[in-house]
Amino acid sequence: MSNVFLNDEEAKYQVETRDFIKRELTGVAEEIEKTDRYPREVFKILRPTGNLGCLIPKEYGGSNQGAVIASLFAEEMGALSPAIGMCVGASSVLFTWPMARFGSKQQKARILPQIARGEKIGCICITEPNVGSDVAGMKTSAKKEGDYYVLNGEKRFITNGGEADYMLVFAITNPKVHAHQGMTAFLVEKTMPGFKHTKDYDLMGNRGSKAAHLRFEDVKVPKENIVGPEHGGFLVVMDELDIERTMIAGQAIGCARTPFEAAVKYSTERVQFDQTISRFEGVSFKVADMGVAIDAARLLMLRAARMIDKGRSATKEASMAKLFAVETANSVTYNALQILGGIGYTKEYNVEQFARDARLMPIGGGTSEILRYLIQREIYREFKEEQKGSETKSSTG
Ligand SMILES: Cc1cc2nc3c(=O)[nH]c(=O)nc-3n(C[C@H](O)[C@H](O)[C@H](O)COP(=O)(O)OP(=O)(O)OC[C@H]3O[C@@H](n4cnc5c(N)ncnc54)[C@H](O)[C@@H]3O)c2cc1C
Repeated sequence: MSNVFLNDEEAKYQVETRDFIKRELTGVAEEIEKTDRYPREVFKILRPTGNLGCLIPKEYGGSNQGAVIASLFAEEMGALSPAIGMCVGASSVLFTWPMARFGSKQQKARILPQIARGEKIGCICITEPNVGSDVAGMKTSAKKEGDYYVLNGEKRFITNGGEADYMLVFAITNPKVHAHQGMTAFLVEKTMPGFKHTKDYDLMGNRGSKAAHLRFEDVKVPKENIVGPEHGGFLVVMDELDIERTMIAGQAIGCARTPFEAAVKYSTERVQFDQTISRFEGVSFKVADMGVAIDAARLLMLRAARMIDKGRSATKEASMAKLFAVETANSVTYNALQILGGIGYTKEYNVEQFARDARLMPIGGGTSEILRYLIQREIYREFKEEQKGSETKSSTG
């Protein structure tokens, strides 16, 4: 990528991180794809890079590098293995961002240094058997009893759910009002009695990343473990989704990039009809479209990440970045496999793996349908605000 959109420090980070990940993690990724085991050691390997603490303030042991760096890191992890990228991102972004922004001083001092060092792992628990896109419809409840909340319910498809030491669990604390005013986020520890990891789902792709089914049966959570305002959990989850979507965009760009590079190389080597297949427009125009889409997705991702770093709301921009990047990952993996022909459908190349991994991306972290809904809502809202602004201007001036 030409680096005109990155400053010198970011460009240097990108090159060094790409080299580090290739050198230190390629073997692990290949092995995990075959064995489907959870790659816990990756957290230890990444520890010296500071990447696990990108979103953690320095006073809590992090590197505090921010969303641009976190999304560049997500791209490199996605290019290595979207599955391993998800395991790491679920802890260092999905769990960590709300903890760093809404956690109490005591919570942050206790938890965040362990996450930054890769000693402990986190996850975020929003989705339930009967609630996916409609987050406000959640059924998991927490009832106040003295100094505790008693948590009951089920969460499903939780990345890292069976491995995590810490969970950020969202539950309804006031069922009499809308979830916007009656949901609370809780820091739950896996050692708390009543927590059960009932199974990991058998996934189509993303081998090694574990999507768990979790049960909470009368789990006594001390009130000190509330994260953010009591009954203000909906705000916490909405705030988290902007960075989650920006990070998934990064992973999707990486997930597209590796098969794209494989297809470009293969097309210059494979000879049919006495010439390399790159000479056929049926192939090379696919390459052109893939290249454009990957670069465009990266620009959308960087815009969203920079807005987050500036403390601005990025709901529309993060949704656009995720939507475009995940659809790019799916079209690029499809076309890369097509360029490889029959050998692409085998495990001789890992293009088929990236095609399976890409398929999750338009589902997790907000489906493409929900993102289109959010994007149009924001576009119409901005349009109405502009109209109002120009009416006020003309009536006052
Ligand atoms: C491997 C994996 C890992 C995951 N990791 C996590 C995690 O760590 N933490 C977590 O909390 N969750 C996680 N999820 C859950 C994920 O975020 C949800 O699957 C996702 O939000 C969609 O919810 P759902 O599966 O219940 O689908 P539904 O919400 O039931 O949707 C089904 C279909 O209906 C469509 N639909 C629904 N509502 C509308 C609407 N209003 N307009 C148009 N179409 C609509 C959807 O787009 C989709 O196509 C993970 C999921 C998977 C598969």
